[in-house]
Amino acid sequence: MSAADKVVRPEIREMHAYPVADATGLVKLDVMESPYGLPQALADEVGRLVAGLSLNRYPVPTATRLRALIRRVMQVPAGCDVLLGNGSDECIQYVTATVAREGAVVMAPSPSFAVFSMQAFFYRLRFVGVPLREDFTLDAQLFLDAVRTEKPALVWIAFPNNPTGNAFPVADIERIVRATPGLVVIDEAYQPFAGATFMPRLAEFENLVVMRTVSKIGMAGLRLGYVAGRPEWIDAFNKARSPFNVNVVTEAVAIRLLENKAVLDALAAKVLAERERMRPELERLPGLKVYPTAANFFLVRVAGGKGAGTKVFDGLKAQGVLVKDFSGGLPALENCLRLTVGTPDENRILLTALREAL
Ligand SMILES: *Cc1c(COP(=O)(O)O)cnc(C)c1O
Repeated sequence: MSAADKVVRPEIREMHAYPVADATGLVKLDVMESPYGLPQALADEVGRLVAGLSLNRYPVPTATRLRALIRRVMQVPAGCDVLLGNGSDECIQYVTATVAREGAVVMAPSPSFAVFSMQAFFYRLRFVGVPLREDFTLDAQLFLDAVRTEKPALVWIAFPNNPTGNAFPVADIERIVRATPGLVVIDEAYQPFAGATFMPRLAEFENLVVMRTVSKIGMAGLRLGYVAGRPEWIDAFNKARSPFNVNVVTEAVAIRLLENKAVLDALAAKVLAERERMRPELERLPGLKVYPTAANFFLVRVAGGKGAGTKVFDGLKAQGVLVKDFSGGLPALENCLRLTVGTPDENRILLTALREAL
């Protein structure tokens, strides 16, 4: 037994790290990034901005200017505050840490975003994944029953959901918020593609906060996420925050880019238009079930027995296209692939490769 084996938690020894595929040389349609880089003029400006930063200094952890800008451009309601994270992944950690009393339950629909259950696991909380129906719609009654039985301290609802792509009905989410004794976090990572948000409704519910990220609108590499909510929640999360979690480069560049939010919105609109153009093309492919989406990706299921999905995944990869393969994970996602919407060229390549692989 190695020294590490003696002290590393056995369940951590057995798990594997969050998998991120190597995309070298491939059309990268696996993790819902924006396919668009910055316009050259803005990129040059960012270069000059970074050159002028005092990298020898720690960030000022209150990040007053960036937080004020987010409140304004993201229309955070008056009276609500904002917590910043090194990606919303990190916000998930802080929220979980804040409610991690002994015996507390964390709940989310299943399948949903893997980091919700991962953080519950790290903080030794019991995670209850409430199954979606076979078509990935929300069984609201089943979820409400689970809320009543388990009395969760924390409920995560990704709206729209990842990896299924659909946005659950607003009325069902309202019922869940009302029934939950603990905190409900609406994860709006895909809000720019969804046309729906709980942000303006924060004042209505004492136990609701909204989490967002800039990752899916062209800034995945910056690592910036945020949670908006009543000060009593944000103050509590802030105590669990690593003191200098948002670095000076991220802070300065995010300010510059969010001041130019119209540029980002225009790129998101292009992705949205491409999604609508792709939908009928995907639906026309034989042997593929295309699920409804309100995000910048499609979840599809390959017809056939065990291994059919992975075969298509491998076929796409052989043709230079990287998507996400869910086979071998949750049984509900067997033979499912997740296809990020890319540029018109990338999507053409994907559709051609799919026809070939199927
Ligand atoms: C991508 C994603 C995130 C993570 O975003 P980061 O800000 O890049 O950490 C959070 N929630 C959902 C549902 C996502 O799909």
